[in-house]
Amino acid sequence: MKELAVIETVKNGGVFALNSSDFEGRRMTINEVVAILSAFDAFWQYQGDPCVQKPHALLKSGKHSNGFINCKEVLDYPLLCMLLAHEMLKEAKSHLAQDVLATIGGVAASAYSALDPGFCLAWLLSKEYNHRIKAFKAEKDDKGNPTIIRGGIDPSLNVLVINELMTTASGSTWETKQAVLKTNGDKPAPKVLDKAIVLMHRSKDFQLPDGSLVVPVFHFDIENFEPENCPYCQVGSQAIKPKVGNNWNILHGWA
Ligand SMILES: [Zn+2]
Repeated sequence: MKELAVIETVKNGGVFALNSSDFEGRRMTINEVVAILSAFDAFWQYQGDPCVQKPHALLKSGKHSNGFINCKEVLDYPLLCMLLAHEMLKEAKSHLAQDVLATIGGVAASAYSALDPGFCLAWLLSKEYNHRIKAFKAEKDDKGNPTIIRGGIDPSLNVLVINELMTTASGSTWETKQAVLKTNGDKPAPKVLDKAIVLMHRSKDFQLPDGSLVVPVFHFDIENFEPENCPYCQVGSQAIKPKVGNNWNILHGWA
């Protein structure tokens, strides 16, 4: 299917009719994934330069942002999660050699929103390369960080780290990698592939703190700012919570 046809299908309510075969021989485009996210009110991005007339987003973290992506709204649907996992598989194939792909013994993802795409990607890799690929889950610790993988991991396994969304280099992608490396305690650790795959990359960082590469499936020029350093506040733009009251429509300029 061509890009325009996909976007029309989604806009006409046909998002669940999409199939991975509609994207055969090519990659899903950024416009297509934005259309899919938008069908669930899960995407907004500031248009143009900062200006007083257009508000920007106040995130739950207290930071300000020129964009908003809520992958969960899409990834909670198995059909759409699997559709996007196919795009992660294409990314893996274009950045990892065939003999490396064939050695993957596990896919590690963090609680909660990355778990389903991690499982779906492990399933796709299992079908194509190795029936015995495991899906490892980094659970949240009492601080809410994904640092715990229960039961350890066979140190002979090569583990691919994935994430559904990455904002900072030291965030959950890095924590998932650390969880894999630390899960065996004092015993030998499994190996982690030197490229992590991120479905939605809204970050300036293309490396983790150890210098290993992050491979985005979809990259967005979206930034977060501390309120005191926010270029949008500096021109008088108002910071509003995206999903409160009529704010979603206001951000999009629909209200
Ligand atoms: Zn601001």
